[in-house]
Amino acid sequence: MREWEAVIGLEVHVELATETKLFCSCVNEFGAEPNTYICPVCLGLPGSLPVLNERAVEFALRVGEALHCSVPEHSIFHRKNYFYPDMPKNYQISQYDEPICVDGWLEVDSVRVGIERAHMEEDTGKTLHVGGAAGRIHGAEHSLVDYNRAGVPLMEIVSRPDIRSPEQARAYVSELRGLLEAIGVSDVKMEEGSLRIDANISLRPAGTEGLGTKVEVKNMNSLRSLGRALEYEAGRQAEVLDAGGRITQETRHWDEEAGLTHTLRSKEEAFDYRYFPEPDLVPVAPSAEWQERVRAAMPELPSARRARLAAQWGISDHDAGVLVGTAGLADYAEAAVAAGAPGREATNWVTGDLLGFVKESGTRPSDLRLSPSGLAELVALVGDGTLSRPLAKEVLAAGLAGQGSPKRVVAERGLAQVSDEAELVGVVEAVVAAHPGEVERYRGGEEKDRKKLRGFFMGQVMAATKGRGNPQVLNRLLDERLAG
Ligand SMILES: [Zn+2]
Repeated sequence: MREWEAVIGLEVHVELATETKLFCSCVNEFGAEPNTYICPVCLGLPGSLPVLNERAVEFALRVGEALHCSVPEHSIFHRKNYFYPDMPKNYQISQYDEPICVDGWLEVDSVRVGIERAHMEEDTGKTLHVGGAAGRIHGAEHSLVDYNRAGVPLMEIVSRPDIRSPEQARAYVSELRGLLEAIGVSDVKMEEGSLRIDANISLRPAGTEGLGTKVEVKNMNSLRSLGRALEYEAGRQAEVLDAGGRITQETRHWDEEAGLTHTLRSKEEAFDYRYFPEPDLVPVAPSAEWQERVRAAMPELPSARRARLAAQWGISDHDAGVLVGTAGLADYAEAAVAAGAPGREATNWVTGDLLGFVKESGTRPSDLRLSPSGLAELVALVGDGTLSRPLAKEVLAAGLAGQGSPKRVVAERGLAQVSDEAELVGVVEAVVAAHPGEVERYRGGEEKDRKKLRGFFMGQVMAATKGRGNPQVLNRLLDERLAG
């Protein structure tokens, strides 16, 4: 059987977080009462004229800058004609052969994925199919339409077919998502549709350079479903090709529940849309000064931030990736470090127990009830020997549950670690005296029995100190007393 290599290109639609829509002054906001943010322009009523949102162009320039694209002197809008109930104008204002950003790249795990183009367009409204087979177009009793989303600014970011595996596709989207969030152009919430992915995938014999017939896959609503859909589709195509069949160029729909793709429609060609220049809008020609201002105001990008944190704090690339890859987590860690925690210690707590809590509770790091300076306080309490690690975990959990600052929790619960030798000697001697048989077996035993018994004694003394005894001091005292 032949070895196949996947060739994948991704089209990512991202809703821009402007205050108003792309061509009118309607509010751009998710989740409002249906059909409340609408006006003659976004409803396409006769005689209404679109006016381009300057902020959306600025966001597009930021995207271009972050993706190393060039921005042609001018770009233009086209009308993409097709009929669908969620698009009241019967055409979508989009960019076609002269987009605002071209020829960039995004580095993903040390591999450069080319960006063919990133263009601006307006979003459509939303249809909801009700009754009958839930969520299915065919068999629904009726359909509802909400035009709040019609005219919301979108960027479509089209990669070159440089991606070679479902895993790499996920990594690309994850990197792109973090980038778009860092430059403040979108809230990138896949669950609310702010970021949507279509994928093109074909197979070719491994080691060859040609391109096979590609299939477009739609309806992947999470990184996980993107990975699953591409795995499935690569497997399906390999089966067809192995059996001597041919791949049909088409658009397929990912069915999350069934875990498979099925034919949606044969792939439409550009000419199906009768693109023609939008006569109501002038070309977009951002001045060099404007582009320079955008460039100067760019924040630190995730890749640069990862490199900086790894170098400054001496943490692994992996940990730096976790910090920067989770919204708000690196900000939290940096604030803890600013409050006095060493970077590596702060990273250990933030990427460990704290991240666990964030994921489980769905709380954003900025909303945690333990502040970054509270974490710095905890790190200091471990550093000066007041808290052992297990006790510190308890204090952290209490802080995250809103039970007070680490110092307060330690004081209220009497949790401070006991390192005072005079106090601990008594505990160790009492335990040794209470278990003469174990002591004898320990002294005369083989190495593995000794190890086991040693664990037993440590457990006993720890229990006797209610977990507060300093393990290092206890270990030394046990060594002395058990030596006989
Ligand atoms: Zn409007």
